Amino acid sequence: MTIEISYGAAEVVTGSCHYLKFDDGTKALVDCGMFQGLDEYKNYEPFGFDPKEIQYLLITHGHLDHVGRIPLLYKQGFRGKIIATQATFDLMKIVLLDTAHLMEEDFETAFRKAQRRGEEERIKKPLYDKHDVKAVLRLPRRVVKYGQSIRLSPKVQVLYKDAGHIIGSAFLEIDYNEDGLHKRVIFSGDLGNRQIHLNPPPTDPANADYLFIESTYGDRLHKRYEESVKEFKNAVIETLKRGGNVLIPSFAIERTQQLLCIFKEMSKNDELPPHAKVYLDSPMGIKATRVYEKYKYLLSEYCKHQPYPFDFPQLHFATTTNASKRINDQKSGNIIIAGSGMCNGGRILHHFKHRIWDPKNSVIFVGYQAKGTLGRQIIEGAKYIDIYGERIVVRAKIYTINGFSAHADQQELLEWAGKVRDARTIFLIHGEEEKQRVFKNALKERLHKRVHIVKQGEIIHL
Ligand code: ZN
Repeated sequence: MTIEISYGAAEVVTGSCHYLKFDDGTKALVDCGMFQGLDEYKNYEPFGFDPKEIQYLLITHGHLDHVGRIPLLYKQGFRGKIIATQATFDLMKIVLLDTAHLMEEDFETAFRKAQRRGEEERIKKPLYDKHDVKAVLRLPRRVVKYGQSIRLSPKVQVLYKDAGHIIGSAFLEIDYNEDGLHKRVIFSGDLGNRQIHLNPPPTDPANADYLFIESTYGDRLHKRYEESVKEFKNAVIETLKRGGNVLIPSFAIERTQQLLCIFKEMSKNDELPPHAKVYLDSPMGIKATRVYEKYKYLLSEYCKHQPYPFDFPQLHFATTTNASKRINDQKSGNIIIAGSGMCNGGRILHHFKHRIWDPKNSVIFVGYQAKGTLGRQIIEGAKYIDIYGERIVVRAKIYTINGFSAHADQQELLEWAGKVRDARTIFLIHGEEEKQRVFKNALKERLHKRVHIVKQGEIIHL
């Protein structure tokens, strides 16, 4: 088999997309994600293969960096079959429609500004629009369950197993026959953090000849989750005690549901005053929470046996813009969860504008803040921030709490990879260069394996 890896997620953490070509001519992609942050410009580059020839698109999970370029693939001729779990299809729909909407909005704003300068031809068109997304949603699809094998050709089949990363997430075991020999290759997708009891831990991988593994946190160990939760609860309780409000920028998928679980527990244990209000002020977060509720049976033992794992008396959903604005009328005792997770857009900006100047309030960061984002400026101690052209002083108390990551840490990655006993080579994908080097050394030392860091566009013959 030839794997032309990495039209994405090689030495970077976004834009996951791997092209597989088997000896019998079967052509498949594993994921087709969006480049984000500093790599965003790469979304405009050609795929490096002909999308028309791809017969199968195997999706590991519904995060943007794994599904975000599918409409682009469609626009360039892809008409093959998409294979994923039902929860992944549901999340994919939410994520792609939201992305198309944001890109269209950004384009219109940028275009209007450019028009006033007479430079409108310099503004890049959105990568795709909602019509392209709808076309993707009409493509042939195959819904797969965990533990189910799908035959791609008489010689190739793929098995989906629970990766424990977000709801519906999977890693792939691909079996194929070449020259009469049976071979197996595993693609890890993103692997979950075992300490977080929202999803079950990742399923054990089978033995295989080759392993392609993510290495996002291959260089470090996470803080103990229980400690992070304790720190988080204390920050919330202290703020409410002094009559303040809590603002929490959050990613819509997984992090938001994690937070709701913590607040539910606080509510149950009387750690949350009955008059406090927890607002989920994120249309996408609300939609994602519905997906988690719908496929509750996929969650951890603890979550799946609760009738409503994400509901408690103090919780309110703000679906409309008006409902979001009404939160501003409430003086104190509010906890507001809103997007975007890195504060580079979304409703959190309005809440910052109304509350970040007031020393009674707090902002709690529970997610990674990339360079160049407003979230990063704030955690690095910015005294003032600019929101919609207005200068706002930062007087609220700022907390940064680590340990909420939905990715496995080095120890968990090593244990999981160690179960693929006979792997001839372990290939590292999906990670920053420096972290990958650290993880490579750890794998060599602990598992005595041959390890290879995959380069962008590299062709690998297995
Ligand atoms: Zn992910």
